[in-house]
Amino acid sequence: MTLVNHQKRFEEIFPGIWVATLPIPGRRPGPVNVYLFTGEKNVLVDTGARNTATLAKQIFRNSGFELKDLYQIVATHGHLDHYGAARRLIKWSEGRAHLAAHPEDAPSILNGREAPLSAYAAYFRAMGVPVLLRLLMLPLMFMGKFMAEPCPVDRLLKDGETIRMGNYDALVVSTPGHTRGSICLYIPSRKILIAGDHILAHITPNAFAMIETNGALPLRLSQEEYYRSLEKVLALSPEIVLTAHGKAVTDIGKMVAGYKTSFEKRKEKLFALIGGRETSVYRIARRLFPELGGKRFSLDLFLAISETYTHLQILEKEGKIVMEMRGQRLGLITK
Ligand SMILES: [Zn+2]
Repeated sequence: MTLVNHQKRFEEIFPGIWVATLPIPGRRPGPVNVYLFTGEKNVLVDTGARNTATLAKQIFRNSGFELKDLYQIVATHGHLDHYGAARRLIKWSEGRAHLAAHPEDAPSILNGREAPLSAYAAYFRAMGVPVLLRLLMLPLMFMGKFMAEPCPVDRLLKDGETIRMGNYDALVVSTPGHTRGSICLYIPSRKILIAGDHILAHITPNAFAMIETNGALPLRLSQEEYYRSLEKVLALSPEIVLTAHGKAVTDIGKMVAGYKTSFEKRKEKLFALIGGRETSVYRIARRLFPELGGKRFSLDLFLAISETYTHLQILEKEGKIVMEMRGQRLGLITK
């Protein structure tokens, strides 16, 4: 990973609201934006990954801020690039800062992953991933250790509560979909929404399959929850959406309409791909994303399977397909 061209200091985008961008591996979704609120309570929203903690510390110093003045870190959700450096930053704050997140993502943050490896293994087996690829999946799981240090969550944030960030009051908005415990933070006085990965300008955010810790099939309908959460933030009518990756969004209505169109198109395409014969999620994911190719287990394949499965859940709910376990594998067929 190259650290060239990273930002050297925070940039003030609104009075007392600062942004810095930290690198993460891979092309998508690209570098992560972390936001610092200064004033009455100094609060950092998201941290970047573990391996850029030192860089984050330098950015604090270069900008004339002291980590020991940090009151709170808020993780918008339990993905590695959003909380990975929290433990170190808290240590460098001489233990003064504490971590806040939604209770449903607190276990991911505390354990460094959403579910035990055995649960992931059962999930990939059910999706029909060939055995060799499942073995190759393990290093990917260990990459998590490099990207994030597990960290206890000291404060659990509730939907609808107001927290002080800098000199602003921010409303905690629970927005499940991307993960179980994703949150957005809304500042009514400025009509600013801090969206984490719930809204991104350059790609449609992923509504990840929510892995069950006991190895059962993911039951929650991530896509349905995701679109319901979008309506929730739309109703707030934010004028500026500060995203965790890429540019800010100024026309949230247009952005959400675009997500919906691509969701419907993908669902139709999936239905057509299944055809008359029984198949597996893995085979359909390969057909939906032919560019993946190869026989290696990449992060992109992980995402493709999750994307395929969560759309199939909706097709099943609409009564268009049937998904049934065949031994340890999930079989799917059109009705
Ligand atoms: Zn995320």
